[in-house]
Amino acid sequence: MNKNETPEEVRRWFSRAIQRLWPVALGSISLRKSPCIRENCSACQSGVGHSSYALAGYRGEQRFSIYVPDELAPDIQRAVENGRQLQELMKEAGLRYVRARKSERRSKSRQ
Ligand SMILES: [Zn+2]
Repeated sequence: MNKNETPEEVRRWFSRAIQRLWPVALGSISLRKSPCIRENCSACQSGVGHSSYALAGYRGEQRFSIYVPDELAPDIQRAVENGRQLQELMKEAGLRYVRARKSERRSKSRQ
């Protein structure tokens, strides 16, 4: 990591870093028990029941949960992992941007 990078260099680093981060999602994906509509369902009667994946999280104060078909679960899991990485990148970008603006300010006051 370059100690004296410019704000423009930080911008270019960030743009490159987020390019590989797609798809993205915030929240968590987990298996949940889902209700069954069938009558006399053997899975329900045996107590096994049915489970399906869901993506859950918060939108402001509001909790959301959306059904995820089994075959999409690995992709959505990847989106959640990318989302976490994106948050980490944003934290790093903020720190590097502040440092870059400060060193820019110092070099201007020296002129
Ligand atoms: Zn059932």
